[in-house]
Amino acid sequence: MTTRAPVLIVGSMAFDDLELPTGTFANTVGGSATYASFAASTFTEVRVVAVVGDDFDAGTLAALETRGVSTRGIERAKGKTFRWAGRYDADLVGRVTLDTQLNVFADFQPKLGNEHSQCPIVLLGNIHPTLQAQVLDAMTGPELVVADTMNFWITGEPEKLAALLPRVHVLIINDEEARELSGIHNIRRAAAEIRRRGPHTLIIKRGEHGALLFDETGIFAVPGYPLEEVIDPTGAGDSFAGGFIGYLAAHRGKIDPHVLRTAMLYGTATASRCVEGVGTSKVQTLVLGDVEARVVQIRTLFELPR
Ligand code: AMP
Repeated sequence: MTTRAPVLIVGSMAFDDLELPTGTFANTVGGSATYASFAASTFTEVRVVAVVGDDFDAGTLAALETRGVSTRGIERAKGKTFRWAGRYDADLVGRVTLDTQLNVFADFQPKLGNEHSQCPIVLLGNIHPTLQAQVLDAMTGPELVVADTMNFWITGEPEKLAALLPRVHVLIINDEEARELSGIHNIRRAAAEIRRRGPHTLIIKRGEHGALLFDETGIFAVPGYPLEEVIDPTGAGDSFAGGFIGYLAAHRGKIDPHVLRTAMLYGTATASRCVEGVGTSKVQTLVLGDVEARVVQIRTLFELPR
C-alpha cells in the first residue's frame, strides 16, 4: 500500500552572501534545510530540525508554516545565524566558498520531539556529520535515511563522516566530492568504493549535466534540463534532495529501484525550478504542477521521436 509519509529534514538555516554575475545579494535567506524543506513540502508534510540565531527572518519561518512545514523543531538560539558566502564564475558553473561562519551552529545540539523521532523518512541535510549522527541516534529506526554532505565536512571531519556512512541508505554528493571522499578519480570506481562503505544507493550530482544513480541493479542517469536562463544556482543541490525525498515520501510502501529513479527525475526538476530565481524565491512558491511540467520536459530530452 502506498501512503504519504512525513519527512524529517535536518540541516542548516542560513544567511548567504551571494556574488553572482548579475550582482551581489547580501543576507539572502538560505541553508540546506531551508531549501530542502521548501522543496519537499511540494510533495509531503515536512518537519524541520535546525537552529537559527535571534537575527533570523520571521517571514521565512511563516512561509515554511504556510506550506505545511512544522517549524517547532527550529531552535532560536541567542547569537547569529549560520552564515555562508560564495562567489560564482561568469558561467554560473564554478563556485568558490568565500566564508563559512558556524555561529549558533557551533553549539547546536539537535533536540527531537516525538513528531521528529518517529518520522519514517529522514533527510540529513548538509551539516556537521556528528550532528547528523546525533539525529539518527535520537530516531526510532527510520525506514529510509538519505544524507547529503560537502567538501567542507569530507576534508574537515573524515572520521566522523566515515562512521556515519554505514547508517545511510542513500548518499547524495557531487562528482568532485565523490572523488575526494573515495580518493578515486574514475567516477564509476569512486561510486563502487563509496557504496562499499555503507550507502546502498549513491547519487552523484553533476551540476548542469544532471545526476547519476548507482545501486545494486546498475547505473541510471538523468540529464540536467538546459534552461535558457539560470539566475542563481545556490540551493540546487538541496532542492534536488528535497524534491527527491519528497517524492519518495509520497510513495512510502513501494520504494524500489524504479521509484528511486523516478524520484531522481523529480529531484532534478525541482532543482531546475529553484535556480530560476535568487535564493529561495522560486522554491518557496513551487507547486506540484510546476515540477510535473518540468519532469515532462526532462523526459523529452531522452525520448527519441518515433
Ligand atoms: P547548494 O547550493 O545546494 O550546495 O547549497 C547551498 C546552501 O548550503 C547555502 O544556502 C548555504 O547556506 C548552505 N551551506 C554552505 N556551506 C555549508 C556548510 N558547511 N554546512 C551547512 N550548510 C552550508
